[in-house]
Amino acid sequence: MTLDIRTMMVMVSALSVLFSALLTLAGLHGGNTRGVQHWATGSLCMGLGLGFSYTHLGLDSTWVLSFGATLMAAGIGLQFNGIQAFKTGHCNRYIPWLLVVVVFIQSIWFVVLHPDIHARVIANSLAFSIGNAACARALFIRIDQPLRTAYWFTGASFTVVAAMFLARAVIVFLAPPDTYSLYAQTPINPASFFIGSMAQMCLTFGLVLMLNYRLATDLQKLASTDMLTGALNRRSLEQEAVRLSARCNRTGDTLAVLMIDVDHFKSINDRYGHPVGDEVLRRLAAVAQKTIRSDDYFARYGGEEFCILLPSTLEKDAWILADRLRQTYAAMVIEYDGVALSSTISIGVSDSTHTGVEFASLIAAADQAMYRAKLEGRNRVVMHSDQVELSVDVVLL
Ligand code: GH3
Ligand code: MG
Ligand code: MG
Repeated sequence: MTLDIRTMMVMVSALSVLFSALLTLAGLHGGNTRGVQHWATGSLCMGLGLGFSYTHLGLDSTWVLSFGATLMAAGIGLQFNGIQAFKTGHCNRYIPWLLVVVVFIQSIWFVVLHPDIHARVIANSLAFSIGNAACARALFIRIDQPLRTAYWFTGASFTVVAAMFLARAVIVFLAPPDTYSLYAQTPINPASFFIGSMAQMCLTFGLVLMLNYRLATDLQKLASTDMLTGALNRRSLEQEAVRLSARCNRTGDTLAVLMIDVDHFKSINDRYGHPVGDEVLRRLAAVAQKTIRSDDYFARYGGEEFCILLPSTLEKDAWILADRLRQTYAAMVIEYDGVALSSTISIGVSDSTHTGVEFASLIAAADQAMYRAKLEGRNRVVMHSDQVELSVDVVLL
C-alpha cells in the first residue's frame, strides 16, 4: 500500500479545519465554556498551517514553509491555552506568541539564512513535540474526578502526537545528510502523517468529550445543589440519606443528624430586607461547610433550615460539632450592603442508636429537639435523647 504524502497532508489540513468548525459549534452549544474557542482557533491554525506548508499555494515556497510552520506552532500554543483555560479559567496569553516566535525564528534561520532541511525538520519537530507534551502534561495533572476518563483519553492523544514528532526528529537526525525530503516515500513520512492524523482526530474527540463531561457534571451539580447557598438541596440530601441508612443497616454503623434553624430570621428579613436575609443564609452555609468533615453532608432543608448528616457519629459527638458551629456563627458579624448584624441558630441533634436508621425518624427526632431548643430560649443545641429523658421525667412526675 502506498500512502501519498501530499494527499494525506491535504486530508489532515482539511480535517483540522473541519475540527475547528466542530469545536466552535460544540463551544457555542456548551454555553461558551472557557477554553473551547482556543481549541477551535488552534485547530484552524494547524489546518491552515499544514495547508500553507505543503501545498505551497504558488507562492515563494521558503516563506510559505516558514509561515505554515509558525501557524502550526500558534495552533499548538492555543490548544495549550485552551486546556489551561478549561481547567482553571485562566491562561497565559503569551504562550502561543512565545511558540510562534521560536518556530518563526528557527524556520527563517534554517530556510532563508542557512538553508538546511535536516536541521529545520529536527528543530520544528522538537518544538512541536515539546508543545504537545506540555498539552498532555497539563491534562494529566490535577484532574477533577468526574472528567478523569476524558482527560486521560485526550492526554494520551497529545502524548502520541508528541512521541510522533520526537521520533521524527530522532529519525531525521540519524539519517545520512541530504537524504531527507518532505515528499520522499521513506517510511517516516507516511507513518508520521498517518499516526499524527489519527491522534489529531482522537484528541479533537477527546476535547469534545471533556466539554461533554463538564456540561454533564455542571448539570448534575445544578440539579443537586441549592442555588443560593451552594449546599445540597433537599432531594439530594434524601438520596444520600437512603444510601447511608442502607449502609448503616448492613454494617451496624451509626448515623447522626443535625437540624439547624436560624433564630428570628423573619425579623432579620423584615428589618433589613430579603437580600440581607439571603446573605445571612450564605454566611451560615459557608461557616457550616467549614465546620463539617469531608464525608459529612450539608443541605438546605427548606427556607432557613439546614440539615447535616454525620456518618459514623454518635449523638454526643454530633452535639460537640453542633455547639462549635453555633458558637462560631453567633460570634460572626455579618456585613452586607452597609448593614452589620449578628444572628444565632438553634440546633436539634439525633442519632440512629436512639431512633433507628430510617431517615424520616432521624429527621423527626432532630426536628423535635430543635423546637425544644427554641422553647428553651434559642441559641442552643439540644440532643433528642435528653428530650426523651425529660419527657419521661415529666410523665413520672
Ligand atoms: P424562629 O426563631 O422561631 O425560627 O423564628 P423565625 O422568624 O426564624 O421563623 P419563621 O419560620 O417564621 O421564619 C422563616 C422565614 O424565612 C420566613 C421566610 O420569609 C424566610 N425565608 C425562607 N426562605 C428564604 C430565603 O431564601 N431568603 C430569605 N431572605 N428569606 C427566606
Ligand atoms: Mg424555620
Ligand atoms: Mg427560624
